[in-house]
Amino acid sequence: MSAYDFDLFVIGGGSAGVRCARISATHGARVAVAEERFWGGTCVNVGCVPKKIMVNAGEYGLWAEEAAAFGWQEMVKGQHRWSVLKEARDAEVERLSAIYGRLLANAGVTPFECRATFIDPHTLDVGGRRVTAERIVIATGGHPVKPDIPGAELGMISDDLFTLEEMPRRVAVVGGGYIALEFASLLRALGAEVDLVYRQSLPLRGFDHDIREAMRDALDALGIRQHVGHEIASLEKTADGIRVATAGGQAATVDAVMFATGRVANTGGLNLEAAEIVTGRFGAIPVDARQTTRQPHIFALGDVTDQLNLTPVATAQGHALADTLFGNKPRTANLQNVPTAVFTIPPAATVGLTEELAAAQGPVDIYLTRFTPMRHTISKRARKTVMKLVVDRASQKVVGAHMLGDDAAEMMQGIAIAIVAGATKQDFDATIGIHPTAAEEFVTLRTITRQVG
Ligand code: FAD
Ligand code: NDP
Repeated sequence: MSAYDFDLFVIGGGSAGVRCARISATHGARVAVAEERFWGGTCVNVGCVPKKIMVNAGEYGLWAEEAAAFGWQEMVKGQHRWSVLKEARDAEVERLSAIYGRLLANAGVTPFECRATFIDPHTLDVGGRRVTAERIVIATGGHPVKPDIPGAELGMISDDLFTLEEMPRRVAVVGGGYIALEFASLLRALGAEVDLVYRQSLPLRGFDHDIREAMRDALDALGIRQHVGHEIASLEKTADGIRVATAGGQAATVDAVMFATGRVANTGGLNLEAAEIVTGRFGAIPVDARQTTRQPHIFALGDVTDQLNLTPVATAQGHALADTLFGNKPRTANLQNVPTAVFTIPPAATVGLTEELAAAQGPVDIYLTRFTPMRHTISKRARKTVMKLVVDRASQKVVGAHMLGDDAAEMMQGIAIAIVAGATKQDFDATIGIHPTAAEEFVTLRTITRQVG
């Protein structure tokens, strides 16, 4: 008999924690999970899922506007009813969150619906009860932070947007990353007037330069007012709403402000000192390639480690750790060439190296195309699709693929398989396209746009 209550205790019932707990239990381990807020964590409750439903809602409005050009004379875009969308979205979130709970129960995991904190390296306080475990996984995710400016309390974070009973008519979104662009985009498509304030000269720092430029233009085309290169300075309540001032001297008055200025790890309340674990930048827990902390029996997964803060990465890490600890299959998640998408309207998606990073490693050939997608030659909506391949000149391997345009996220998943498999430009060229699609451009790019290095 083990001296511990459980073989594994997982703190956090989000993407990473649920996967790790469920697979560990399936391998025969005695597993418990504590979740203090909502099963399924950020992604299901206040992240990917409700966000994507709202993006879909925004897209319907745009489709309705475009339909007339295709002969649908009776199809007019009416008023959007936020309450109907909210109800449908919340019901879907509730359904999915319950599924997460059931997945754990069916696997025989013991659930605790409360907070867990460390008492010592093998003992946790779980809602006031002492529980011991041979191994412990920290999968507590992260939370948004507001900038330290006067009036910051007047601004919302992304979680708050999902609780609003009505859509604000005028919104300022602060930040130039994933969350800022996605929410600016969906709110605009739903009919809000949107001011977007970011401090770089282009949005999406870290993405390929051509995609960043295309994103700036796409946000313009959607009617989002961009305050480029502006640090947010203050928020102030006025008779007419909230006055948003930037350090560059610009100002806008809006009904609501949403900060999307980054997230920090949920480690503050874990009493990590009792487990002798120290945190790093943004409160994140440092781990090695096998997700092990400085304590060989304590592991950390997902956003709390601040590596690649994406749901599929969190679940892949959770699954790999469960297989390693209890499945007799030691392995790690492959974090090379992780594809990712920004669900703006239209979306951007990417896999592999940017031109800038690839060129720093050696000479590259760039294949780039910009065109008006077929649907919009008819709808006359100002939309451009940008597609780009970055090819290592010496090996001819495609080391990066980038796109902004309709269905970019759907396309990039398949391109990612090719890149993970090590496909060369000649493999892309040898692949027959599907016509008529935008996707076929990825296999018909024949002319080098530029050579770098
Ligand atoms: P989480 O899902 O955050 O789970 C951690 C859980 O731990 C939480 O439920 C929390 O309540 C619980 N917890 C914390 N402390 C304790 C404690 N002491 N005791 C008990 N429980 C505790 N990623 C994508 O791949 N695609 C997207 O489209 C996407 N969209 C996003 C949109 C938004 C608005 C946000 C905020 C994020 C989005 N992400 C997206 C990122 C994605 O949600 C995260 O990468 C993912 O949820 C991380 O999973 P996790 O298990 O590490 O953490
Ligand atoms: P990001 O890191 O993507 O963006 C943060 C933004 O906030 C950056 O533009 C940053 O500017 C800006 N910023 C930070 N501090 C300040 C400040 N003090 N004043 C003004 N601007 C500031 O974080 P997000 O919060 O958007 O998203 C968190 C993570 O969640 C993402 O990185 C991603 O991993 C994940 N996510 C994934 C999604 C998806 O897969 N579709 C969707 C949503 C989130 P600067 O660049 O100048 O530092």
